[in-house]
Amino acid sequence: MTTSLQSATTLHNGVNMPWVGLGVWKVDNGREVEQAVQWAIAAGYKSIDTAAVYGNEEGVGRALKQSGASREQLFITTKVWNSDQGYDSTLAAYEESCRKLGLDYVDLYLVHWPVKGKYKETWRALEKLYKDGKVRAIGVSNFQIHHLQDVMADCEVVPMVNQVEYHPLLQQRELLAFCKEHRIQMEAWSPLMQGNSLDHPVLRELAAKYGRTPAQIVLRWDLQNGVVTIPKSVNESRIRENADLFGFELSAEDMDKIASMNQNKRFGPDPDNFNF
Ligand code: NDP
Repeated sequence: MTTSLQSATTLHNGVNMPWVGLGVWKVDNGREVEQAVQWAIAAGYKSIDTAAVYGNEEGVGRALKQSGASREQLFITTKVWNSDQGYDSTLAAYEESCRKLGLDYVDLYLVHWPVKGKYKETWRALEKLYKDGKVRAIGVSNFQIHHLQDVMADCEVVPMVNQVEYHPLLQQRELLAFCKEHRIQMEAWSPLMQGNSLDHPVLRELAAKYGRTPAQIVLRWDLQNGVVTIPKSVNESRIRENADLFGFELSAEDMDKIASMNQNKRFGPDPDNFNF
Protein backbone atom coordinates (compact mmCIF):
# COMPACT_ATOMS: atom_id res chain seq x y z
CA MET A 1 0.00 0.00 0.00
CA THR A 2 2.32 2.77 1.23
CA THR A 3 5.33 1.62 -0.72
CA SER A 4 6.60 4.85 -2.26
CA LEU A 5 6.19 8.61 -2.21
CA GLN A 6 3.84 8.11 -5.14
CA SER A 7 1.55 5.86 -3.08
CA ALA A 8 -1.92 7.23 -2.50
CA THR A 9 -5.01 6.49 -0.46
CA THR A 10 -8.29 6.32 -2.35
CA LEU A 11 -10.89 8.66 -0.89
CA HIS A 12 -14.51 7.51 -0.71
CA ASN A 13 -15.31 9.24 -4.01
CA GLY A 14 -12.49 7.40 -5.80
CA VAL A 15 -9.99 10.28 -5.90
CA ASN A 16 -6.41 9.33 -5.04
CA MET A 17 -4.68 11.39 -2.36
CA PRO A 18 -0.94 11.00 -1.70
CA TRP A 19 -0.06 9.64 1.74
CA VAL A 20 2.66 12.27 2.20
CA GLY A 21 2.59 15.98 1.41
CA LEU A 22 4.42 19.19 2.25
CA GLY A 23 2.82 21.56 4.79
CA VAL A 24 3.51 25.28 4.36
CA TRP A 25 2.02 26.95 7.44
CA LYS A 26 4.16 29.91 8.60
CA VAL A 27 6.20 29.77 5.39
CA ASP A 28 6.79 33.18 3.83
CA ASN A 29 4.89 33.94 0.59
CA GLY A 30 8.11 34.88 -1.25
CA ARG A 31 11.25 32.95 -1.97
CA GLU A 32 10.89 30.77 1.12
CA VAL A 33 7.70 29.06 -0.04
CA GLU A 34 8.81 28.94 -3.68
CA GLN A 35 12.00 27.13 -2.74
CA ALA A 36 10.33 24.73 -0.33
CA VAL A 37 7.67 23.72 -2.85
CA GLN A 38 10.22 23.33 -5.64
CA TRP A 39 12.54 21.23 -3.48
CA ALA A 40 9.57 19.08 -2.49
CA ILE A 41 8.47 18.50 -6.07
CA ALA A 42 12.05 17.73 -7.08
CA ALA A 43 12.15 15.17 -4.24
CA GLY A 44 9.01 13.51 -5.59
CA TYR A 45 6.23 15.10 -3.48
CA LYS A 46 2.93 15.50 -5.33
CA SER A 47 0.90 17.00 -2.51
CA ILE A 48 1.08 20.51 -1.02
CA ASP A 49 -1.06 21.68 1.90
CA THR A 50 -1.77 25.42 2.15
CA ALA A 51 -4.68 27.58 3.36
CA ALA A 52 -6.05 31.04 2.62
CA VAL A 53 -4.99 32.19 6.08
CA TYR A 54 -1.36 31.13 5.54
CA GLY A 55 -1.05 34.05 3.09
CA ASN A 56 1.16 32.06 0.72
CA GLU A 57 -1.21 30.68 -1.91
CA GLU A 58 0.37 32.98 -4.51
CA GLY A 59 3.88 31.78 -3.72
CA VAL A 60 2.73 28.16 -3.85
CA GLY A 61 1.14 28.84 -7.24
CA ARG A 62 4.30 30.46 -8.60
CA ALA A 63 6.39 27.52 -7.46
CA LEU A 64 4.01 25.00 -9.04
CA LYS A 65 4.26 26.83 -12.37
CA GLN A 66 8.04 27.13 -12.18
CA SER A 67 8.40 23.44 -11.31
CA GLY A 68 6.91 22.43 -14.64
CA ALA A 69 5.03 19.59 -12.91
CA SER A 70 1.91 18.53 -14.77
CA ARG A 71 -1.29 19.60 -13.07
CA GLU A 72 -2.81 16.10 -13.10
CA GLN A 73 0.14 14.74 -11.12
CA LEU A 74 -0.24 17.29 -8.32
CA PHE A 75 -2.57 17.22 -5.33
CA ILE A 76 -3.20 20.71 -3.96
CA THR A 77 -5.13 21.37 -0.76
CA THR A 78 -6.35 24.72 0.51
CA LYS A 79 -8.88 25.77 3.14
CA VAL A 80 -11.62 28.34 3.69
CA TRP A 81 -10.73 30.62 6.58
CA ASN A 82 -13.08 31.23 9.51
CA SER A 83 -13.98 34.83 8.61
CA ASP A 84 -15.13 33.65 5.15
CA GLN A 85 -17.41 30.93 6.48
CA GLY A 86 -21.06 30.99 5.36
CA TYR A 87 -22.53 29.96 2.01
CA ASP A 88 -21.90 32.83 -0.42
CA SER A 89 -18.68 33.96 1.24
CA THR A 90 -17.25 30.43 1.01
CA LEU A 91 -18.07 30.20 -2.71
CA ALA A 92 -16.28 33.54 -3.21
CA ALA A 93 -13.33 32.46 -1.03
CA TYR A 94 -12.85 29.36 -3.17
CA GLU A 95 -12.64 31.44 -6.35
CA GLU A 96 -10.15 33.76 -4.68
CA SER A 97 -7.95 30.86 -3.54
CA CYS A 98 -7.94 29.40 -7.06
CA ARG A 99 -7.03 32.81 -8.47
CA LYS A 100 -4.14 33.22 -6.02
CA LEU A 101 -2.89 29.70 -6.69
CA GLY A 102 -3.20 30.27 -10.44
CA LEU A 103 -5.23 27.04 -10.70
CA ASP A 104 -8.57 26.22 -12.32
CA TYR A 105 -9.39 23.85 -9.46
CA VAL A 106 -7.92 22.52 -6.25
CA ASP A 107 -7.83 18.83 -5.43
CA LEU A 108 -9.06 19.14 -1.85
CA TYR A 109 -10.90 22.05 -0.25
CA LEU A 110 -11.33 21.99 3.53
CA VAL A 111 -13.40 23.82 6.14
CA HIS A 112 -10.46 25.02 8.24
CA TRP A 113 -12.17 25.08 11.70
CA PRO A 114 -15.65 24.13 12.95
CA VAL A 115 -16.90 27.70 13.52
CA LYS A 116 -20.06 27.42 15.64
CA GLY A 117 -23.27 28.34 13.84
CA LYS A 118 -21.44 28.58 10.51
CA TYR A 119 -19.78 25.33 9.58
CA LYS A 120 -22.90 23.59 8.27
CA GLU A 121 -23.68 26.42 5.87
CA THR A 122 -20.04 26.40 4.86
CA TRP A 123 -20.27 22.65 4.24
CA ARG A 124 -23.28 23.23 1.92
CA ALA A 125 -21.11 25.60 -0.11
CA LEU A 126 -18.40 22.93 -0.38
CA GLU A 127 -21.03 20.42 -1.51
CA LYS A 128 -22.13 22.90 -4.19
CA LEU A 129 -18.53 23.34 -5.40
CA TYR A 130 -18.13 19.57 -5.48
CA LYS A 131 -21.41 18.86 -7.28
CA ASP A 132 -20.58 21.58 -9.83
CA GLY A 133 -17.30 19.80 -10.56
CA LYS A 134 -15.19 22.73 -9.39
CA VAL A 135 -13.17 20.77 -6.81
CA ARG A 136 -12.11 17.11 -6.82
CA ALA A 137 -12.67 16.38 -3.13
CA ILE A 138 -14.02 18.18 -0.07
CA GLY A 139 -13.36 17.75 3.61
CA VAL A 140 -13.05 19.33 7.01
CA SER A 141 -10.33 20.15 9.48
CA ASN A 142 -10.28 20.19 13.27
CA PHE A 143 -13.62 18.41 13.46
CA GLN A 144 -14.33 16.28 16.53
CA ILE A 145 -16.68 13.29 16.35
CA HIS A 146 -19.69 15.44 17.35
CA HIS A 147 -18.93 17.98 14.61
CA LEU A 148 -18.74 15.18 12.04
CA GLN A 149 -21.98 13.65 13.31
CA ASP A 150 -23.65 17.05 13.08
CA VAL A 151 -22.59 17.50 9.44
CA MET A 152 -23.38 13.90 8.53
CA ALA A 153 -26.89 14.12 10.02
CA ASP A 154 -28.15 15.97 6.94
CA CYS A 155 -25.34 16.32 4.42
CA GLU A 156 -25.48 15.20 0.80
CA VAL A 157 -21.76 14.44 0.64
CA VAL A 158 -19.91 12.89 3.58
CA PRO A 159 -16.57 14.68 4.12
CA MET A 160 -13.77 12.80 2.38
CA VAL A 161 -11.01 13.99 4.73
CA ASN A 162 -10.63 15.26 8.31
CA GLN A 163 -7.31 17.02 8.86
CA VAL A 164 -6.52 17.22 12.59
CA GLU A 165 -3.63 17.63 14.98
CA TYR A 166 -2.18 14.13 15.31
CA HIS A 167 1.16 12.88 16.59
CA PRO A 168 2.53 10.48 19.22
CA LEU A 169 1.59 12.83 22.08
CA LEU A 170 -1.99 13.30 20.73
CA GLN A 171 -3.21 10.03 19.25
CA GLN A 172 -6.98 10.70 18.98
CA ARG A 173 -7.83 6.99 18.82
CA GLU A 174 -11.62 7.37 19.02
CA LEU A 175 -11.64 10.00 16.31
CA LEU A 176 -9.43 7.86 14.08
CA ALA A 177 -11.71 4.83 14.59
CA PHE A 178 -14.79 6.94 13.80
CA CYS A 179 -13.17 8.29 10.62
CA LYS A 180 -12.15 4.81 9.50
CA GLU A 181 -15.66 3.48 10.15
CA HIS A 182 -17.13 6.20 7.91
CA ARG A 183 -14.39 6.16 5.26
CA ILE A 184 -13.28 9.66 6.15
CA GLN A 185 -9.52 9.79 5.55
CA MET A 186 -7.71 11.19 8.58
CA GLU A 187 -4.80 13.52 7.87
CA ALA A 188 -2.23 14.62 10.46
CA TRP A 189 -1.34 18.25 10.97
CA SER A 190 1.70 19.11 13.07
CA PRO A 191 2.78 15.47 12.63
CA LEU A 192 6.26 16.41 13.93
CA MET A 193 4.82 18.11 17.02
CA GLN A 194 6.01 21.40 15.50
CA GLY A 195 9.56 20.23 16.02
CA ASN A 196 9.06 19.53 19.76
CA SER A 197 9.65 16.22 21.54
CA LEU A 198 11.55 14.59 18.64
CA ASP A 199 14.19 13.83 21.27
CA HIS A 200 11.73 11.68 23.28
CA PRO A 201 13.59 8.56 24.50
CA VAL A 202 11.22 6.15 22.67
CA LEU A 203 11.76 7.97 19.38
CA ARG A 204 15.52 8.10 19.91
CA GLU A 205 15.62 4.40 20.71
CA LEU A 206 13.61 3.47 17.60
CA ALA A 207 15.59 5.85 15.41
CA ALA A 208 18.79 4.08 16.49
CA LYS A 209 17.22 0.64 16.00
CA TYR A 210 16.00 1.32 12.45
CA GLY A 211 18.88 3.58 11.41
CA ARG A 212 16.42 6.42 10.76
CA THR A 213 15.73 9.83 12.28
CA PRO A 214 13.07 10.44 14.97
CA ALA A 215 11.07 12.44 12.40
CA GLN A 216 11.07 9.48 10.02
CA ILE A 217 9.94 7.13 12.80
CA VAL A 218 7.00 9.40 13.61
CA LEU A 219 5.98 9.88 9.97
CA ARG A 220 6.24 6.15 9.27
CA TRP A 221 4.01 5.55 12.32
CA ASP A 222 1.39 7.85 10.70
CA LEU A 223 1.43 5.79 7.52
CA GLN A 224 1.20 2.47 9.35
CA ASN A 225 -1.83 3.86 11.21
CA GLY A 226 -3.49 4.76 7.92
CA VAL A 227 -3.12 8.50 8.45
CA VAL A 228 -2.04 10.90 5.67
CA THR A 229 0.81 13.12 6.82
CA ILE A 230 1.97 16.63 5.80
CA PRO A 231 5.23 17.56 7.60
CA LYS A 232 6.39 21.14 7.13
CA SER A 233 9.98 22.05 6.41
CA VAL A 234 11.77 24.85 4.61
CA ASN A 235 15.05 22.97 4.72
CA GLU A 236 15.98 20.99 1.62
CA SER A 237 17.59 18.05 3.36
CA ARG A 238 14.71 17.73 5.85
CA ILE A 239 12.18 17.91 3.00
CA ARG A 240 13.94 14.89 1.49
CA GLU A 241 14.29 13.15 4.84
CA ASN A 242 10.57 13.54 5.58
CA ALA A 243 9.69 11.83 2.30
CA ASP A 244 12.09 8.92 2.72
CA LEU A 245 9.69 6.71 4.66
CA PHE A 246 9.30 3.70 2.45
CA GLY A 247 12.38 1.53 2.92
CA PHE A 248 11.48 0.23 6.37
CA GLU A 249 8.58 -0.96 8.48
CA LEU A 250 7.98 -0.55 12.22
CA SER A 251 7.19 -3.85 13.96
CA ALA A 252 3.90 -4.26 15.82
CA GLU A 253 5.84 -4.17 19.07
CA ASP A 254 7.46 -0.85 18.15
CA MET A 255 4.10 0.59 17.02
CA ASP A 256 2.88 -0.27 20.56
CA LYS A 257 5.87 1.53 22.08
CA ILE A 258 4.88 4.69 20.24
CA ALA A 259 1.25 4.13 21.25
CA SER A 260 2.41 4.30 24.87
CA MET A 261 3.66 7.88 24.32
CA ASN A 262 0.15 9.35 24.15
CA GLN A 263 -0.50 12.23 26.59
CA ASN A 264 -3.51 13.84 24.84
CA LYS A 265 -1.23 16.85 24.52
CA ARG A 266 -2.09 19.55 22.00
CA PHE A 267 0.39 22.04 20.60
CA GLY A 268 -2.41 23.82 18.73
CA PRO A 269 -5.86 25.08 19.73
CA ASP A 270 -8.66 22.84 21.04
CA PRO A 271 -11.41 22.47 18.39
CA ASP A 272 -14.03 22.66 21.16
CA ASN A 273 -12.64 25.84 22.62
CA PHE A 274 -11.14 28.36 20.22
CA ASN A 275 -11.98 32.00 19.66
CA PHE A 276 -10.80 32.92 16.19
P1 NDP B 1 5.27 20.06 11.88
O1 NDP B 1 4.79 19.19 12.97
O2 NDP B 1 5.26 19.58 10.49
O3 NDP B 1 6.72 20.55 12.29
C1 NDP B 1 7.42 21.53 11.59
C2 NDP B 1 8.65 21.92 12.41
O4 NDP B 1 9.52 20.80 12.51
C3 NDP B 1 9.42 23.05 11.79
O5 NDP B 1 9.99 23.81 12.83
C4 NDP B 1 10.51 22.31 10.99
O6 NDP B 1 11.67 23.13 10.86
C5 NDP B 1 10.78 21.12 11.88
N1 NDP B 1 11.17 19.94 11.10
C6 NDP B 1 10.73 19.54 9.89
N2 NDP B 1 11.30 18.40 9.52
C7 NDP B 1 12.15 18.04 10.51
C8 NDP B 1 13.02 16.95 10.68
N3 NDP B 1 13.12 16.00 9.75
N4 NDP B 1 13.75 16.90 11.82
C9 NDP B 1 13.63 17.86 12.76
N5 NDP B 1 12.80 18.93 12.65
C10 NDP B 1 12.07 19.01 11.52
O7 NDP B 1 4.44 21.46 12.03
P2 NDP B 1 3.29 22.25 11.33
O8 NDP B 1 2.52 22.84 12.45
O9 NDP B 1 3.81 23.14 10.29
O10 NDP B 1 2.32 21.14 10.65
C11 NDP B 1 2.50 20.66 9.34
C12 NDP B 1 1.45 21.23 8.39
O11 NDP B 1 0.13 20.92 8.84
C13 NDP B 1 1.43 22.75 8.33
O12 NDP B 1 2.53 23.31 7.66
C14 NDP B 1 0.09 22.98 7.68
O13 NDP B 1 0.18 22.72 6.28
C15 NDP B 1 -0.76 21.94 8.39
N6 NDP B 1 -1.47 22.51 9.58
C16 NDP B 1 -2.83 22.55 9.53
C17 NDP B 1 -3.55 23.07 10.59
C18 NDP B 1 -5.03 23.10 10.51
O14 NDP B 1 -5.65 23.76 11.36
N7 NDP B 1 -5.64 22.46 9.55
C19 NDP B 1 -2.88 23.60 11.80
C20 NDP B 1 -1.44 23.47 11.76
C21 NDP B 1 -0.78 22.92 10.69
P3 NDP B 1 12.31 23.50 9.41
O15 NDP B 1 11.21 24.09 8.57
O16 NDP B 1 13.36 24.47 9.76
O17 NDP B 1 12.85 22.20 8.84
